[in-house]
Amino acid sequence: MADVKLSEVHKYYGNVHAVRGVDLTIADGEFAVLVGPSGCGKSTLLRTIAGLEDPDGGTISIGGAVVNDLRPRERNIAMVFQNYALYPYLTVNENIAFGLRARKTPEIEIRKRVSEAADMLGIGNLLQRYPRQLSGGQRQRVAIGRAIVRKADLFLFDEPLSNLDAQLRDEMRTEIKRLHHEITTTMIYVTHDQVEAMTLADRIVLLRDGEIEQQGAPLELFEQP
Ligand code: ADP
Ligand code: ADP
Repeated sequence: MADVKLSEVHKYYGNVHAVRGVDLTIADGEFAVLVGPSGCGKSTLLRTIAGLEDPDGGTISIGGAVVNDLRPRERNIAMVFQNYALYPYLTVNENIAFGLRARKTPEIEIRKRVSEAADMLGIGNLLQRYPRQLSGGQRQRVAIGRAIVRKADLFLFDEPLSNLDAQLRDEMRTEIKRLHHEITTTMIYVTHDQVEAMTLADRIVLLRDGEIEQQGAPLELFEQP
């Protein structure tokens, strides 16, 4: 587990000031949802935490250590994307195991972790299939499985459900919530969907034009006057 602390983080794309001095602390084990309209900087902020973008100012700490100079691989994070990013020529089993193999994890440990993750996600019967033989919901489960087996300190989700139809979205939302209860890792989740934010978050962080407009528990934030 790991807390996350951003201090005065800035990011520019040319003239576009995408992230404007964000200060944010996320506690160990907390489920934080970054929400806000398209273009407000959610994804940029998440990718900065992941190390996929370099901030132009400020510091980012994970578990008390400044990670600005660490590559994504060195940050002990796991990330789930909207587009699944599965390898089409690898089976489900090989897709889930990929990150562990790349890190030279012993095969016996890989088998154990893959089977645990597959059980947790109800995809134990799909391990020999290829991504094209799966539904969208099943693919997203595989993508989450790939993150689980890493036993990372921090889970980052970038709009993971926006390619799914409404019913599957509901189902996967429940699944992700259950997963957080089960593994109690810090999670940061980006969405533009307020319902998703309300149901998943311990804390909602509302972004607007690259700045934090408001943050708080879901009921604090969206309480009707
Ligand atoms: P959100 O995730 O909230 O939709 P983004 O973080 O993707 O917002 O984008 C924030 C701002 O930065 C937007 O104005 C977007 O156009 C711009 N932006 C994002 N990525 C890039 C990029 N690679 N190059 C140039 N501009 C970008
Ligand atoms: P994994 O163990 O899941 O294969 P790696 O650590 O090998 O992940 O990947 C290096 C970094 O690249 C990770 O931070 C991961 O989140 C990121 N990454 C993986 N797939 C994508 C993608 N489709 N788009 C952007 N970044 C990605």
